[in-house]
Amino acid sequence: MLVRPRNTEIIHIVRTHMASFVDFHARSVNDRDAFWAEQAKLVDWNVAPKQVCDYSNPPFAKWFVGGETNLCHNAVDRHLKDRADQAALIFVSTETDQEKTYTYRDLHAEVQRMAAILRDLGVLKGDRVLIYMPMVAEAAFAMLACARLGAIHSVVFGGFASHSLATRIEDASPKVIVSADAGLRAGKCVPYKPLLDEAIKLSAHKPTNVIMVNRKLAEFTPVPGRDLDYDTERVKHMDAVVPCEWVESTHPSYTLYTSGTTGKPKGVQRDTGGYTVALAASMPYIFEGQPGGTFFCTSDIGWVVGHSYIIYGPLIGGMATILYEGLPIRPDGGIWWRLVEKYKVNVMFSAPTAIRVLKKQDPALLSKYDLSSLQALFLAGEPLDEPTAKWISEGLNGKAIIDNYWQTETGWPILSICNGVEKAPSKFGSPGKAIYGYSVKLVDDQTGEELLGANQKGVLTIEGPLPPGNLQTLWGDDDRFVKTYWKTVPGKLVYSTFDWAVRDEEGYYFILGRTDDVINVAGHRLGTREIEESISSHPNIAEVAVVGVADQLKGQVAMAFAIAKDSSGLTELAARLKLEGEVMKVVDAQLGAVARPSRVFFVTALPKTRSGKLLRRAIQAVAEGRDPGDLTTMDDPTALQQIAELIKG
Ligand code: AMP
Repeated sequence: MLVRPRNTEIIHIVRTHMASFVDFHARSVNDRDAFWAEQAKLVDWNVAPKQVCDYSNPPFAKWFVGGETNLCHNAVDRHLKDRADQAALIFVSTETDQEKTYTYRDLHAEVQRMAAILRDLGVLKGDRVLIYMPMVAEAAFAMLACARLGAIHSVVFGGFASHSLATRIEDASPKVIVSADAGLRAGKCVPYKPLLDEAIKLSAHKPTNVIMVNRKLAEFTPVPGRDLDYDTERVKHMDAVVPCEWVESTHPSYTLYTSGTTGKPKGVQRDTGGYTVALAASMPYIFEGQPGGTFFCTSDIGWVVGHSYIIYGPLIGGMATILYEGLPIRPDGGIWWRLVEKYKVNVMFSAPTAIRVLKKQDPALLSKYDLSSLQALFLAGEPLDEPTAKWISEGLNGKAIIDNYWQTETGWPILSICNGVEKAPSKFGSPGKAIYGYSVKLVDDQTGEELLGANQKGVLTIEGPLPPGNLQTLWGDDDRFVKTYWKTVPGKLVYSTFDWAVRDEEGYYFILGRTDDVINVAGHRLGTREIEESISSHPNIAEVAVVGVADQLKGQVAMAFAIAKDSSGLTELAARLKLEGEVMKVVDAQLGAVARPSRVFFVTALPKTRSGKLLRRAIQAVAEGRDPGDLTTMDDPTALQQIAELIKG
């Protein structure tokens, strides 16, 4: 039996709550089960849930227990009745000059073809499939095909290189990998296959098969018996009928790796039912996306925003979604606005860095196209600075610019304004208020006490149970999940976001930066430890400290301060530049250019406490030209002076 509301009912559910956001939020927390039971009606269930939330074993929350559903069914199949001929996936590549629209009917067929190939390779419910692909439609088919089969996908960002990829292959132990010969960036070919082959070599786990989408951009030699050509397999399955595998609501839908404070990335594990409901509810309440409308999210499928708002959210909401390969400024800085006009985009989602890039373009490009369809521009992933917010708000003639704050772990926003519940003004510099379902508390990091007053700085935490759609655990490591996120606030079992924040009198939050060593480069979250480990693998590096330094365009960039094992010759500029170049190449090859430090400076000592702890905050302050504060615990003050002099140049 499919519990399936008609679209009119969806609108009805929204309308009944249009009264006040305060009440809406209060109900979501105080009458949690009733609230989420109502939201669960937004999606189809093969078997209706028996219990809304099981929090008998905190901090592990189980949502919609006893329910059976399927993510692909909710994203694709259930729309066939009403909108089979409506656009579902619009693939646009300004790199290869391709534009192709897949209707829901087309998408259904393509996903079944991909699912049939995977099924033939023995992929069953619970098996892992790793997806390492550029922004092509086949990546979306692969994700949806996995969801269809109840297989767990793990998408790895195409910008990561072999070492990063190898650790993810090893952790996820996929039966099959889906990949492609290459991507393109600014017209330059970025081959994927050599990095994949190297990663498989490095990994202790070997996939049985690799499905290769051959875009004919880069020559490669298939590994006999392992590598299969996607086109060849696809034509064998043109009429494939692969039913959706109904899975328990708590069945993992995917894992997505994210950086932490150790060198080992964390596999964020998401469920099926909770995630489907959370995304379905976010479409009307947060994004005001209507079935039949168009959503354009400029992220990448390798990031959480891409999972939730290029693929699953818009499709669950019956919208068309644009999957875009290319830069925001090619062929010119008007390309995104041209797409808004052409596809009548209603909801757009991007990152502050992209807007800062566009800010450098001709402002006339913003008024060249008909943007009347556009309701709002959502921005997330990094702090949205006030000048950028103002610039784009004015450029878009006062259309809503909605900063929203979330994490890979949460799967959907924690802070935003929810115009679909009650219209509220945006405040520049703030991602808004705590969203329904989230019991957000600011706490004192030393005492764990809740900070109830306005404008007090504390750690932004969330009281359990985390709402539907948030991470269930870390893949294969429940202990790490508990220790990492739930044990950092003294005396309390609360989820830490590791972000500092303040809240004003009206409940608007302002994010002040991370409490840990994670940095954010152009909206990409990177662990400084991972970069340090990579740099240390260069034979001439004895020790290194990597910190995030404020950058006008990218928000932050990584900067490295290293001690060479053999420093003879490093007094010469040419020798320093040579070693710096070599170090950058090591990072490029192991982690990917995304993690490459902007500069590698060579020093003879690093600032440390007398007990040997690296003083990262002090290094960061000096690198940003700020006062490093109290340095009484520092062992050797000349170490920091060296850094200050290098920065001054
Ligand atoms: P990720 O998991 O890669 O999405 O990174 C999450 C981190 O990015 C958060 O913990 C914040 O530090 C930062 N972040 C995300 N969205 C925002 C935002 N709207 N404003 C400020 N920081 C943000």
